[in-house]
Amino acid sequence: MGTMSNENLGSLDVRPSNFLSERIAEDVRTKKYGDAVIQTRFPPEPNGYLHIGHAKAICLNFGLADEVGGKTNLRFDDTNPEKEEQEYVDSIQQDIRWLGFDWERLCFASDYFGQLYVWAIKLIKDGKAYVDDLTADEIRQYRGTLTEPGRDSPYRNRSVEENLDLFERMKKGEFPDGSRVLRAKIEMASPNLNMRDPVMYRILHASHHRTGDEWCIYPMYDYAHGQSDSIENVTHSMCSLEFADHQPLYKWFIENLGIFPSQQIEFDRLSITYTLLSKRKLLQLVQEKRVSGWDDPRMPTLSGLRRRGFTPGAIRAFVTAAGVSRTNGMVDIEMLEHFQRDDLNKRAQRGMAVLRPLKVVIDNYPEGDGEFVEVANNPEDPTAGTREVPFSREIYIEQDDFREVPPPKYYRLSPGKEVRLRNAYFITAQNVVKDGAGNVVEVHCTYDPASRGGNSPDGRKVKSTIHWVSTKHAVSADVRLYEKLFTKPDPNDCVEGGSFLDNINPESLELIGDAKLEPSLAKAKAGEPYQFERVGYFCLDPDSIDERLVFNRTLSLKDSWAKIEKKAGS
Ligand code: ATP
Ligand code: MG
Repeated sequence: MGTMSNENLGSLDVRPSNFLSERIAEDVRTKKYGDAVIQTRFPPEPNGYLHIGHAKAICLNFGLADEVGGKTNLRFDDTNPEKEEQEYVDSIQQDIRWLGFDWERLCFASDYFGQLYVWAIKLIKDGKAYVDDLTADEIRQYRGTLTEPGRDSPYRNRSVEENLDLFERMKKGEFPDGSRVLRAKIEMASPNLNMRDPVMYRILHASHHRTGDEWCIYPMYDYAHGQSDSIENVTHSMCSLEFADHQPLYKWFIENLGIFPSQQIEFDRLSITYTLLSKRKLLQLVQEKRVSGWDDPRMPTLSGLRRRGFTPGAIRAFVTAAGVSRTNGMVDIEMLEHFQRDDLNKRAQRGMAVLRPLKVVIDNYPEGDGEFVEVANNPEDPTAGTREVPFSREIYIEQDDFREVPPPKYYRLSPGKEVRLRNAYFITAQNVVKDGAGNVVEVHCTYDPASRGGNSPDGRKVKSTIHWVSTKHAVSADVRLYEKLFTKPDPNDCVEGGSFLDNINPESLELIGDAKLEPSLAKAKAGEPYQFERVGYFCLDPDSIDERLVFNRTLSLKDSWAKIEKKAGS
């Protein structure tokens, strides 16, 4: 199966057209692989949760295969038992499905350990691999540098018989970790360091999350990846640019084993400003409790973005728009936010919520239960219908929407000034009540009954419209406001001896303890987007319980992307 239909997809779809799709189309046209279907794979290592960089690789591998009727496998590249866990295997599958994709086959590199071992023996017999007793440090010294050729290991010319014997005993567990390795015999003077007799196997007496204690030698990434592709008849193995230098080695193993000729093609890694896309560093944030977990809404993981209220359709649209190239670049985070706002604006149900409440009493409004006003659920979508919102004599407005002494150009509520309460009435502030410290705790107003629905009765204009919530009908909620997790566009930009941790934004999370929401929001559903009018886009957090609602701010309403784009274009 290729791209799954997804109710959040809307008009956004993955149809990447670029050098990768051209290359595949060309191979189809010239029948490079005969009549075989185009086969791709997404190959995560289960050593962490997927992040939005992986979403790019997923959209490309699944999307490009789907374009030509091809297929995509999910393959776990599980060759590092010490760092890998079942928890990651599970979360990765959940996240790929959430993004809207489903795989043809679920595979594991560890399923191929037996075959890889047989192939290693073939290379030894062909005189193309040898057991080396040098230590890891010595191997590094012998490898040389970019400007200096490497030197042959003293063990390089062992006989085939001795190599076969030692390799078998490595497998049987006769030697301690790190005492020996199996290396490919290629060329110590190669200008490409990856070709200087790369290590194929190391000894590691470690339990694997799938194979248990069956193996105590494990293949290196370079020895496992291409052959795994080949076993699965992968035609196009697309990966990010850092693997470009490994491509000659990828080919060398396939050619010297004479197996299915998978081809590796590289594309640029996704980097986003103010965002860290490295599982290792994200793990560090989790382990050091700088965030609440892999799914902390400030994390760029797919699980974090989901909890924050980001949607699969917007992520796919963003990744597609960011495009592919052959050099790494940096994408503005505002672009991601722009795609997300676009999607939320179309779909989010509106509601009124006051984050920092100030009480307003409308002195000439009747006491009692008040009345209902009719409000559109989503002005962008007439089919979304309307709802009834209770209005009464006492309401909450935002503290920021009132100033006793208004600064210049302040058009919201202040003594003697008239404003519109959204969908309700015009009110005019008359006087204030203060606490002992001189803070305004209550504003007394009058209203114009003729302005019901927020319409001007006589053509007189008010300069601003503010939102409100009836005090006696309000529901309380915790609201979590998120800002960027890092203060620098490049979180890795730090002083000598420092680290990305120095760039963590100490104000990335603001907790609002007692926001006041219109009653319809008490029925908010997990996974649904809401727009708190004039405030931002929000979603219900899984921490919510019936007695206490918890909302996450997905994004504020302000979209700065158009401006950035215009500047770049001019
Ligand atoms: P990280 O450095 O975050 O651990 P990784 O590359 O080691 O990432 P893998 O699990 O090995 O993570 O990646 C699976 C696939 O996802 C690889 O093919 C890799 O090329 C691709 N990938 C990872 N990060 C990005 C990114 N930022 N942009 C595009 N593709 C990526
Ligand atoms: Mg990796």
